[in-house]
Amino acid sequence: MTAEELITISDDNIMGTYRRFPIVLTRGEGARVWDCNGKEYLDFVAGIAVCSLGHSHPAVVEAIKRQAETLMHVSNLYYIEPQIHFARLLVKNSFADKVFFCNSGAEANEGAIKLARKYAFENMEPGRCELITMKDSFHGRTLATITATGQKKFQVGFEPLPEGFKYVPFNDLAALEAAVTERTCGVLLEPIQGEGGVRVPDEDYLRKVRALCDSKGILMILDEVQVGMGRTGHLFAHEHNGVKPDIMTLAKALGNGFPIGALLATDKVASAFVPGSHASTFGGNPLAMAAGLAVLDVMLRKGILENCRRVGAYFLECLSNLREKYPFIKEIRGRGLILGMELAIEGADIVRSCMEKGLLINCTNGNVLRFVPPLIITEADVDRAVEILDKAMGEQ
Ligand SMILES: *Cc1c(COP(=O)(O)O)cnc(C)c1O
Repeated sequence: MTAEELITISDDNIMGTYRRFPIVLTRGEGARVWDCNGKEYLDFVAGIAVCSLGHSHPAVVEAIKRQAETLMHVSNLYYIEPQIHFARLLVKNSFADKVFFCNSGAEANEGAIKLARKYAFENMEPGRCELITMKDSFHGRTLATITATGQKKFQVGFEPLPEGFKYVPFNDLAALEAAVTERTCGVLLEPIQGEGGVRVPDEDYLRKVRALCDSKGILMILDEVQVGMGRTGHLFAHEHNGVKPDIMTLAKALGNGFPIGALLATDKVASAFVPGSHASTFGGNPLAMAAGLAVLDVMLRKGILENCRRVGAYFLECLSNLREKYPFIKEIRGRGLILGMELAIEGADIVRSCMEKGLLINCTNGNVLRFVPPLIITEADVDRAVEILDKAMGEQ
């Protein structure tokens, strides 16, 4: 079938929740994908920070194949071997003592909200059930997570929303301090805001949030769904800031394309979850866990994080060089291989032109070009991407 035929059938049969580009992607390898006409693209979207090891990484493919032939699914009524190994490796390489597995970022955050409330219910004064979250944040599309998300556009039309959320500006400690009341049980935030426009807070912000949470006896919850799993050049973004959260959520790159979410916590906090508190049919199933274990194993062993730091710094420099040429570039920011370029103009035309020229990028918040390529890209990939971007910007 042609792309046009497929797109017509898609529009006829699939709910219209996505504004899609008119291409059908059918194959991927490393940092490249191909559409159904055989056209090649350099993929600096990577499933939105999902395929961090590159498309169809051989170790992940092999792990999935082997596990699919062995055991795809059993219930959490029983012990699951790949889940045990993956959990141990995550715990060993993070602040956390315990993990709960689910299937997406929204689910992980939903679980974090439940865990925070349950912990508060059992360990804090009565009435402490409110979470403070950040304006321009993004935490997912379930009812509780759109409510946690501090952006009206995700909430309008879905009222009534669950209670117990309050918003403050990101990177504003005084506002956060003023918002904490006797009803507050925790603070939920992203170490770097992804959907909100790749916003990196001040160097000491997370440390001060941690200190505030400690002094008030409330929980610090980090949503690392987008920036965790190596994206910033460390396994977890908060490692840059020398802080440890009480709860952290992961998803996106955790399975390199296999849907996995996870909720990690200290023993103290995790103990609020007991049999019956929370569950997921698919969460932690053998196939997902075999994929996740392979992903983490590769990420820890193969110089991926070093590559992310080195090529990320190079990419940042290349993007900065474009500033002299294009005065409509307002700011370039990010860390590792999550980079954002804020424009004084809308970004949609540049994104479309890049796609036509063979580079996939994405625009968030209307005017922030976001670059979240696989962490395995080379300097040559960056050169190619910047060359295309330069051409597309020249048309503006
Ligand atoms: C993508 C994202 C989510 C939602 O993840 P889904 O898997 O789409 O549910 C939550 N938080 C952050 C920071 C994200 O970037």
